Amino acid sequence: MINLVLLGAPGSGKGTYASRVAERVGIPAISTGEILRQAVRSGTSLGLDVKAYVEGGKLVPDEVMGRVLQGRLTWGDCAKGFILDGYPRTLAQAEELDRLLEARGTAVSWVVVIEAPEELLLRRLGGRRSCVTCGAVYNIHTQKPVQEGICDKCGSAITVRPDDEPETIRKRLSVYREQSAPLIARYRARGVVRTVESTAPLKDVVESIARFSEEVPAS
Ligand code: ADP
Ligand code: ZN
Repeated sequence: MINLVLLGAPGSGKGTYASRVAERVGIPAISTGEILRQAVRSGTSLGLDVKAYVEGGKLVPDEVMGRVLQGRLTWGDCAKGFILDGYPRTLAQAEELDRLLEARGTAVSWVVVIEAPEELLLRRLGGRRSCVTCGAVYNIHTQKPVQEGICDKCGSAITVRPDDEPETIRKRLSVYREQSAPLIARYRARGVVRTVESTAPLKDVVESIARFSEEVPAS
C-alpha cells in the first residue's frame, strides 16, 4: 500500500500535486476540502453541517472529518493506497488516521511536507478562482481560463471561493500554523517525513513525490 499524506499550508499546492501524482502512480487523490465543498454545492446534510466552517476558514470538527475519511477509505479505488490532501489537520485527526489504517493492516507511508514562503501562499490564494458548479480551479496570474470568467470544463461562472476572501485567507493561514504545522514534528519523530519545495517547477515537485511513492518502506 502506498499511503501518502501531503501536509502544507493553504496555497502550498497540495491539491494540484495530489491530483497529478495520483494520475501518475495510479492511486486516488483524496481532498477532504473538495469532498466538503462538493457536499456544500449539492446541499447534502453533510454540506449543510459544514458550510459555515468551510466558508469561514475554520476547521470542521474532528469527529465529522473522521466519518468523512472513514467513508472514503472504503471505496474500492483505495485498494492500493491513496494520497491524502487536507487530512490530517489536527493531532486528533492524525490519531484517527492511524487507527483507521491500523484497522486495515496498514500505516502512513510518507508524509510529504510542502514548504512554501508566505508571499507565495498569499499570491496564490489571492489569485485563485474557482468554478461555482464543478469546482475546477484557476488562477488569474498563472492559470487563466480560455474565456475570462467562464469555466473551461463546464461553462459555468468562475468566482472567488468564499474562503479565499483576504480576511479568511489570514484566518486559514493562522489555523494551519497553530493546528496543523505541529503535526510535522510528530511524523518527523516517526521518521516518515519527506519535504518538497513549492517554489520548484510543478513537474519537478510531482516527480519528487512520485519517486517517494516508489520507495515505500515495508510496513
Ligand atoms: P486549503 O488547504 O487551501 O485551505 P482545503 O480545500 O484543503 O483548502 O480545505 C478547505 C476547507 O475545508 C478548510 O478551511 C476547512 O474548513 C475544511 N477542511 C478540509 N479538510 C479538513 C480537515 N481535515 N479538518 C477540518 N476541516 C477541513
Ligand atoms: Zn466548471
